[in-house]
Amino acid sequence: MPSGMSPGADPAARVDALRELIEHHSRRYYLDDAPEITDAEFDALLDELAGLEAAHPELVRPDSPTQRVGGAVSALFTPVTHRQPMMSLDKTTSYEELQAWGKRMERYISGEVRFTCELKIDGLAMNLLYEGGRLTKAATRGDGLVGEDVTANVETIRAVPRTLGPGAPDLVEVRGEIYMSTTAFDALNDRQTAAGERTFINPRNAAAGSLRQKDPAVTASRDLSFWSYQMGAIEGGPRFTRHWETLEWLRDAGFPVNPEIRLLDGLEAVDEYCRHWLEHRHELDYEIDGTVVKVDDLAQRGELGATSKAPRWAIAYKFPPEERTTLLRDIMVSIGRTGKATPFAMLEPVVVGGATVSLATLHNQDQVAAKDVRPGDTVVVRRAGDVIPEVRGAVLAARPEGLAPWVFPSTCPACGQPLVRLEGESDTFCVNVDCPGQQVQRISHFASRGAMDIEHLGERTVRAFVEAGLLTDVADIYTLDYDRVATFEGWGPTSVDNLRRAVDASRDRPLANLLVGLSIRHLGTTGSRALARAMGHMDRILAASTDEMAQVEGVGPVIAASVHQFFALQRNRDVVERLRAAGVNMQGPEAPALPQLLAGKSVVVTGTLAGWTREEAEEAIKGRGGKAPGSVSKKTTAVVLGAEPGAAKLAKANELGVPVLDEAGFAALLETGEVPSASQDPGPG
Ligand code: NAD
Repeated sequence: MPSGMSPGADPAARVDALRELIEHHSRRYYLDDAPEITDAEFDALLDELAGLEAAHPELVRPDSPTQRVGGAVSALFTPVTHRQPMMSLDKTTSYEELQAWGKRMERYISGEVRFTCELKIDGLAMNLLYEGGRLTKAATRGDGLVGEDVTANVETIRAVPRTLGPGAPDLVEVRGEIYMSTTAFDALNDRQTAAGERTFINPRNAAAGSLRQKDPAVTASRDLSFWSYQMGAIEGGPRFTRHWETLEWLRDAGFPVNPEIRLLDGLEAVDEYCRHWLEHRHELDYEIDGTVVKVDDLAQRGELGATSKAPRWAIAYKFPPEERTTLLRDIMVSIGRTGKATPFAMLEPVVVGGATVSLATLHNQDQVAAKDVRPGDTVVVRRAGDVIPEVRGAVLAARPEGLAPWVFPSTCPACGQPLVRLEGESDTFCVNVDCPGQQVQRISHFASRGAMDIEHLGERTVRAFVEAGLLTDVADIYTLDYDRVATFEGWGPTSVDNLRRAVDASRDRPLANLLVGLSIRHLGTTGSRALARAMGHMDRILAASTDEMAQVEGVGPVIAASVHQFFALQRNRDVVERLRAAGVNMQGPEAPALPQLLAGKSVVVTGTLAGWTREEAEEAIKGRGGKAPGSVSKKTTAVVLGAEPGAAKLAKANELGVPVLDEAGFAALLETGEVPSASQDPGPG
């Protein structure tokens, strides 16, 4: 049963309704450059109509959208009759159908079949007429027979040659796709945003809207490009027998020909090409919506012919759609761990790009304004590859009357303090460090996989603990009151124990993970690893100047300044000290890059020193290649004596004649690697 058709419904009525709908959407797409539905949704209507017509051949009419090229000619432009019709392409979305098409080609055609495989550029089809080697007419596809005269606009596009070299045909129609690169599209939308103008939904619409302008100056300002992939009518000039030759000729004549076009033998290679580009489509600086497979031999093409709508010798393999429309239920603002306030869309869940999307980012205040999306709007959602889903814009035609524009909040939704946006910055921040919203984000980030990896401490749990006052910063994790945790709903003895074990295990994480976990602005995984490796210990990072850190490869001045600023705040130092006291590892992955002055030496520390904790003193010895054992022996190089030393150690040192150092002597030993003679043997204290 075709979608949208209820049992017992009248197929003829549905066919009429579909044709009307398709006509409507074609007008919105081709004439107004303002589609109300996505291509996938449009194609679904067309597929439903084709399905009904196949089941009820008596309902097929020659003017049905399934039988002719979609599109029309706007009264804004002069009509141009193409010398040779511009056709559409048959399409499939399955590899199996693509293979079946290929096998049909191999069966029907006499002789060996070769295929050219091309990218299906998502732009708009263009017909360039050259007469006597000069560009005389540029026209849109229109209804396939008659297009729109956009010559003055196309003349502003640098990629389109105005003249052809010597040996050009007397007359030739060069076909291809006008498109806007992703870079140009992003730049255009940035300009629109900065100017307070509405942004474009996607590069295809931006390209069509930019080209179909009354004023060519607008087109000229829009950075459009062109890929040529075909010829239409040709009179005089070279004779071609293969498509591949025409592409070579086009390239030599100065037309941009896409470098990814391949001439392939056999359907296996065709299959590989399509699969490759499905996976790698986002590596291109332009959008493609599929691949096109064409029979290469022009005589074979002649044998195959065409239907009323599309040639039989080509097929488009369409990728799964990455855009869908859905209802924007609401716009909320989330507070990140640095206090950044990010607006995001709450959507009626929609399957797009292979996943169900119900949340999508709206980036910042200016972008919401430029997209002018409002709760209650139908919006276009895009999910491309691994990229976070994004709302691209609203379908204005579908906007309910009286929908108010959305206003960015002036206060933090988590703590109620005013939000701050600095002059010249696009982001808005909650600057209240005690904001519970930030606390939740900072603590969950600390516990996340890429940082300290504490299982059972996900965002929901953290939020509950923060709300109950159990956690306010990351150091609190290590002094968590498990008796209180046990009183929380759903927390039995086993889950409490699991959490305790996970927290304990996290004490041994590498220093780099700890640095990642502290949510220092600009410092990500790479910078943290570099810093941990180069500095070797948290104490060296705490003591390092901005310059010292900036010298570290992979760190640089911006990160260094941010790290320095972070540790300049006493409050952050306190957190580090509390983490240290809780037994969290502060040592880097490799021996610190200190001179190994104490290699082969053994230094015993006893009593309390004023300038070092016991651990720090032992780290300082080990960091210089020495040993710091807990007892004195013949092999001991020196004993460092603090307040209230161990009596046995001191007695043993005296007995064996091992030099005994005070703090100053210890500092000298660390600096030179030599036992200072003046400090030797102060005698029993
Ligand atoms: P099509 O766009 O799927 O395929 C034909 C077109 O592909 C050609 O006209 C050409 O412009 C293009 N193309 C790109 N690269 C090519 C290459 N290497 N070789 C040959 N052609 C190449 O088919 P169509 O029937 O023209 O469909 C129009 C498209 O417009 C569809 O994707 C449809 O979803 C969309 N559309 C959308 C709406 C809407 O409301 N969203 C309305 C009408 C049409």
